[in-house]
Amino acid sequence: MRNYLNSRLAVRLFFSYLVVILVGMVVLSAAATFAVPGAFNRRMGEMSMMTGRRMGAMGFSRAELFTGFRAIFRDSLTLSIVSASLAAVLVSAVITRQVVAPIREIMKASQRIADGHYKERVRIRPGASGEGGDELAQLSFRFNQMAARLEQTEEFRRQLIADVAHEMRTPLTAIKGSLEGIMDGVLPGDEATCQSIYREAERLQRLVSDLQELSKVEAGAYSLDLKAEAVDSLARAVVSRLERQFEEKGVGIEVDLPDGLPPVLVDEDRMIQVLTNLVGNALQYTPAGGRVTISALQKDRELWLSVRDTGIGIPAEHLPRIFDRFYRIDKSRSRPGGGSGVGLTIARYLVEAHGGRIWAESAGLGEGSVFTFALPVSG
Ligand code: ADP
Repeated sequence: MRNYLNSRLAVRLFFSYLVVILVGMVVLSAAATFAVPGAFNRRMGEMSMMTGRRMGAMGFSRAELFTGFRAIFRDSLTLSIVSASLAAVLVSAVITRQVVAPIREIMKASQRIADGHYKERVRIRPGASGEGGDELAQLSFRFNQMAARLEQTEEFRRQLIADVAHEMRTPLTAIKGSLEGIMDGVLPGDEATCQSIYREAERLQRLVSDLQELSKVEAGAYSLDLKAEAVDSLARAVVSRLERQFEEKGVGIEVDLPDGLPPVLVDEDRMIQVLTNLVGNALQYTPAGGRVTISALQKDRELWLSVRDTGIGIPAEHLPRIFDRFYRIDKSRSRPGGGSGVGLTIARYLVEAHGGRIWAESAGLGEGSVFTFALPVSG
């Protein structure tokens, strides 16, 4: 019962009004009970003085008695009404304060947040924790959730700026250093120096286009042209794209798909982008002589697509963070390849936009890795 009362603002308000009415009535009747004897004595005294008869003697006319009774009734009623009104106003003020307090608190907190204090939170009344509480408690709870989300976004934004600055610093420092070397005559202005400057500039360009792509997928600023696609043709398209690079590095690539796989409802270009990213990573992190396999299997209403490599593997502690933006296991390790650490983040966004999920598995360093994503089966 108590829980029910606490869980509905309307019920609480209804009972608050009832309490005010009850308090008013109790005070009214108590005040009337106390006021009547005083008013009676006072009126009787006045009537005795006016008529010259002794108080208590039964000598008043019917009209005099009626006038006296009316005056006593009016006096005690006035006093009772004043007392009952005062009591009702007092109780209403206390109840109103209780109801308005959380709203005031939310107002103050929202102002603080608007001023940039993202850590601001409102107090949730004890016993009215979030989901179980009334509408006001839920409002406070949701407000805190919103504030936490804002704080996270702000932190995200700050981190992004710091990450981008950090990522840009290395190639810029290298370009500046080489140019200074040439100007001071320490470095020869020959083809090799120009090529190293060119490589750093290329890296910057790649970073900028990765960031552009990331901001596009993060903001959902693209549309998906969903069609039923055969997994086999997606895999073959990726293999033909990267075949030459596999050959050059001396890494084998194979597609191992069972017969009768159902089609998946995907945007062809976006899916090829995801697969290219995973297969490209597998190539990058697999030494010559290794092997990369694209395989698939159906699990209930999902199709699982995996890219397995026999490469350098991923230590277990890094697996949960591998899809975070700018996350690289060994910062220096992927430097030569120029990876900016956003490829997997983009892949995750794209897979999730298709209603799927993506994860990585590895038995550890030197044991190879498997990247799998699950997509809903079409139809
Ligand atoms: P990058 O552009 O650096 O490759 P990704 O987001 O694609 O960025 O990958 C993030 C990090 O995950 C990489 O820097 C690398 O450390 C690790 N990684 C990704 N794929 C593999 C793989 N197949 N084998 C081992 N490590 C990998």
